[in-house]
Formats: sequence, structure tokens, C-alpha cells
Amino acid sequence: MANRLFGTNGVRGIINEDMTSELGLRLGKAIGEFFGGSVAIASDTRVSGDMIKSAVSAGLMAVGCRVLDLGTIPTPAIQYFVKTHDHVSGGVMITASHNPPEFNGIKCIAADGTELHRSDEEQIEGKYEEDVPCKPWSEVGTRDEVLGAADSYVDAIVSLVDTEKIRSANLVAVLDCANGASYYTAPLLLSKLNVRAITINANPQGEFPGHPSEPTEENLATLIEITKYANANIGIAHDGDADRTVFITDQGQFVSGDKSLALMAEMAVSKKGGGKVVTPVSSSSMVEDVVVRAGGEVIYTAVGSPVVARKMIDTDAIFGGEENGGLIFPEQQYCRDGAMTAAKMLEYIAKNGSLQDGIDSLPAYFTDKRKLECPAEKREALMEHLKGINASRRTDSTDGLKIIYPDGWALLRPSGTEQIFRIYSEAKDAETAEKRGAYYEDIVKDFLKTRKT
Ligand code: MG
Repeated sequence: MANRLFGTNGVRGIINEDMTSELGLRLGKAIGEFFGGSVAIASDTRVSGDMIKSAVSAGLMAVGCRVLDLGTIPTPAIQYFVKTHDHVSGGVMITASHNPPEFNGIKCIAADGTELHRSDEEQIEGKYEEDVPCKPWSEVGTRDEVLGAADSYVDAIVSLVDTEKIRSANLVAVLDCANGASYYTAPLLLSKLNVRAITINANPQGEFPGHPSEPTEENLATLIEITKYANANIGIAHDGDADRTVFITDQGQFVSGDKSLALMAEMAVSKKGGGKVVTPVSSSSMVEDVVVRAGGEVIYTAVGSPVVARKMIDTDAIFGGEENGGLIFPEQQYCRDGAMTAAKMLEYIAKNGSLQDGIDSLPAYFTDKRKLECPAEKREALMEHLKGINASRRTDSTDGLKIIYPDGWALLRPSGTEQIFRIYSEAKDAETAEKRGAYYEDIVKDFLKTRKT
């Protein structure tokens, strides 16, 4: 089997160390050979975006593809373009999402706009290994710049929310684009929804000055302050490639991703009077609580947005998402969509009032998260050991081992790509969550210390 290039979010690396123009060119040929025909390409705002995009484009053309360059747009905007253009056989997004500016990445998009299936990535890896031969001069591809992908993406979102309700609510939002790919689409969306926007970090300068592009509470301190002092209805922040969105309440409180996931799930199920919601086993039980209360059903999957999207398609789900702010609205497309998430949350506050009140109405849960080093060769034996210990308890093996307690759960899960073992524990009170987290940490540590393999 070919060496694994693609991680959970495409191929990532540090520029001119492991992410080089040579890699871009060779991978571009492999991707071009896999897709054939017309291939869309776009990048986020990183300084290295043009270099990697040019290298991949050259590879695509060398094997005969027609390259459609959409410019600098969010990941969900190129996904939407690929999905809505039948003559386009696939897409390539140049992004490293929330990673620091020295990183960049190459991510492939299937013809239906979804993230490429693992088995297809394996085919591309195989072609990369072979090093695809170039076509004769008369068959090389061409490159066209395509304008307007960002605008049609925003227009589609506007058509999918209750615009009258949002427009007449005269909302004020503080918007933080992390100097990333949403610098154009996010302010445009708010203006089309008649939301008065105070926009910060909307300069596509490429080095992300302002704050790191992962939308954590720590990185969003300025947004939180401005939202509070401007008396805004909401604060909105995107990650670097704008497939994710996190929010700040009208009281200036950071909203964790599981809470916005729960609120949006509740809104979707209430509107339809039922339906299926898909989320990974790592999501808070507050999601299931509100979904069941509204008459719906939760389906759990392994961790990772492509798995969630795929399950949503298979089960005809009405909504899905992850606890990191990546939400999927099937009426738009089967992928995480930052702008759609912002528009839907604006619809929520236009209809229900204060976001803080909405957050306060959610059931309270406390989560304890731990991360331990774990050598890959000990993973399997460790999981067997943990299953043995919990043989008499109710468990779920969808991803790792989830032990279900009457008042919460613990999730024990080795990373598939790193030498890391994760322990999540959730309960109705912080003390219990922490106690169980510590209990499993001790068991894992003891096992790793005493067992050779
Ligand atoms: Mg992202």
C-alpha cells in the first residue's frame, strides 16, 4: 500500500519543509489523473497560498485537466461551487484551516461537494507514489480565472434562511474573520441580511496578524470585549478557512461549540417536528437531551466531519455537526459551513431574542478532557484491557470505547494519526466529570507503564 499522505483534513505541512512546490506539483498530477476533466481550485489567505496553488495547478494541467481558479474563498464556498457545477469533476482547496501561518495544506473535494472519501484518497496516494506521467504537449490543460463563486455562495445562503425575519430584527453583530478566507463573504452576508456589522480582522494579509486562527475563547478576547461594549446582539468568529463558526452572546459570553450545536439542532428538529440529527460520540449529551425533547432522534458516529456528512446522507438526517463549531445544514450542502452557521444563528436570535437566554436554557453538563501520550503499538492491547474492565457496564464502541453511566459518560479513544490517547468525561457536575477522568487516566498510565506491548 502507498504511504499515507492525507490526514483527517487533507495533506498538511510546514511550507518549504514538508509542504513544498515539488509535493504540490506531483500531488497535482495524481489528483488530476484521479478526477480528470475540469477541476476547481481555491485557497485561503495564507502567504504560501499562491505558491502551492500554482504548483498543484501546474500538475493538474500537466495531466490534461482544465483548472478553474476561484481565487481566495472559504472551503465551503468551493465545495458549493463544485456541487452546483455538473461539468466540474472535483475540487482542490489550499488551506491549513486553523493551523499557524507557516503551515499549508491540500484538501480534495468530491464531485458532489463533500470531502473526499478515504478510499478515493488512497487511490490518489497510489498515483502519487507511481508519479503520473505528463501528457504530450497538445493535450495539456488550461487555466481560467472564475469570478463570482463567493457571491453565488452567499446568495444561496441568503435564500435558505428567513431573510424577512432577520432583516426586520435590525441586529448588530461583531464579526471576526481571523484575517482568513471569510474576509469578503462574511461581511457581504451580514450586509445582505441587514445586520449592522462591526468587523475586525478582515484583512487578507496572509500572516494572520491579529490573533491565531483557531477560534478559542483565548484567541477571541478582543471580539468578546467589543461584543460586550458595543451592546451587540452577537459576536461571530470564523476559523482560517471559514468552515467553522463560534459565537459570543449579547452578554459577552463565549459559547462553546457543543452549545451552538445543541441550539441549532433544537431549532432544526422543532421546525420539522422531528427528524434525525447526526453527531460524533464525543458530543455533549445536551445535544441528545434537546433533540429528544423536541421530538427528534440522535445518531452517533465516529469522530470526523466526513463521517458525519456521510451518515447524514445515508440516514436522510435534517442536521448534523461537531462540537468544534463545524455544523452541517443539508438544505445547503453536506459539509461544515461557517457562513450558513452564522446565518442560521442570526435567524435563531431574530426569532427567539437573546442568545444568552438560549444558551442559559440548555441542560448543564461538565466535561473533563485529558490527553496522554500512547505509543501506537500499545493501542490495541490497551483498548482490550479497558473493554475488559468495563465488561459489565453499558458501552458503545462506535469510536474508541464510550462507557455510559446513569449521569454521564466517559470516552476513551486513541488518535488514529498521532501517538495520543484521549479521555473525555462528561457528567452533570464538574466534580464527577473530573473524578472519572482521573480514574481512567490512572488506569491508562498504569497499563502503559507495566505492559511492554
Ligand atoms: Mg477549518
